[in-house]
Amino acid sequence: MEFLSQVVTYSPAYTLVPTYECFNRCTYCNFRSDPGTSPWLTLVDAEKVLNRLKNQGIIEILVLSGEVHPQSARRTDWVQHIYNLCELALAMGFLPHTNAGPLSFAEMTKLKEVNVSMGLMLEQLTPELLKTVHRHAPSKLPELRSQQLAYAGALQIPFTTGLLLGIGETERDRWESLEAIAHIQERWGNIQEVILQPYSPGQQESWAGSAFQPKDLLEMIKVARQVLPETIALQIPPNLLQPEMLMACLKAGANDLGGISPHDEVNPDYPHPQVHQLTARLKQAGWEVVPRLPVYPQYDGWLPSQLQKVVSEWRSRLQSSKHKEP
Ligand code: SF4
Repeated sequence: MEFLSQVVTYSPAYTLVPTYECFNRCTYCNFRSDPGTSPWLTLVDAEKVLNRLKNQGIIEILVLSGEVHPQSARRTDWVQHIYNLCELALAMGFLPHTNAGPLSFAEMTKLKEVNVSMGLMLEQLTPELLKTVHRHAPSKLPELRSQQLAYAGALQIPFTTGLLLGIGETERDRWESLEAIAHIQERWGNIQEVILQPYSPGQQESWAGSAFQPKDLLEMIKVARQVLPETIALQIPPNLLQPEMLMACLKAGANDLGGISPHDEVNPDYPHPQVHQLTARLKQAGWEVVPRLPVYPQYDGWLPSQLQKVVSEWRSRLQSSKHKEP
């Protein structure tokens, strides 16, 4: 069955990285630095960056961080630093969305105050990967990751999750990971979008895996549309797909392009397309590309009141810019 919607959304975003240091060592990672080798982004430098972004159409500030070990003496400072960066972004009129690996319930409770949504890739739930690509990545324990989705549900945090495809999992594993997300959604209703991210080799990683086959992504989208409720947006990254494949994915049922930022920090070897070029190309094929906020409208009521106010202002701004379009 062909998906009928001709609208595809994206989030105009910029990524701030508090630190690249990470105590995990996933073998396919093109992001991390060893602990102690990546100076933390200062608030002063973050403010300079955010000042440059004003009036450029950016709405979301994705705060994407490498992880400080939960037992480390620096953990509290790290969480506080992420909080401070989000608070700064909010004060400057942006909408923060944090993805900083597994958090404790208390850490998530704190960060909810300054985030309109949060995220964590489920990746894959099979424990088999702990023997291979996740052998040195304690944060990739499957039960720890699914617990995060449930914590976010209990705290009423609108949440983005997703699957990383092609890291050694089987077709059945993929199905089971999607089913786990569907169960969380049934229980808590907090999953706003699911990313289907094809593994794409980069220059920094130590793993010699092959790229996930685009034709398998089409199949995956169809499966995801069967397993996940319709209310969940299905996101595909436009920088990891050739234009023809991108359109085929939209036809198959994907309906969101995620945060489009000048630089993809997770896949630095794959630059994002320019939004205006992407919009023009997709328009020719009958797709309308529409900007959205990092929180979906059905969750606005879950946000703390001070965040609801900023979100409501952004919704009005997007609405009025739509009316001004020729
Ligand atoms: S993929 Fe994430 S958790 Fe794994 S090493 Fe890289 S930054 Fe750390």
